[in-house]
Amino acid sequence: MSTKLGKYYICDRCGTTSFLEKIGEGETDGGFTKFDKFEEAEGWNTVYPEATHSMGSSKLLCPACSEKYNKLMQKFFDDWRDFDRRG
Ligand SMILES: [Zn+2]
Repeated sequence: MSTKLGKYYICDRCGTTSFLEKIGEGETDGGFTKFDKFEEAEGWNTVYPEATHSMGSSKLLCPACSEKYNKLMQKFFDDWRDFDRRG
C-alpha cells in the first residue's frame, strides 16, 4: 500500500472529483518561498456567477459542467445580441 500526495478537485455542481497528484515543488523569492506543484487540472474551471453577488462565492466546475456553463453563457449572449438587433 502506498500513499499519494495530491489534492482533490470537487465539482460544485455535480460532485465529480478529480485527483491531482503532487508532481514536485516550486520556489519563488530565490528559494525563500516553496509551493507544491500539482498535475494540470485539464478542463476544470473556476467561475464567478454574477447572481451570487458576493466575494468568495466562486464555483469550481468539472470539465463536463464547464462545457455546459460555457454553452449556456454563449447562448445567453447570443440571445442578447438578437434582442439588441430587434431594437
Ligand atoms: Zn460537474
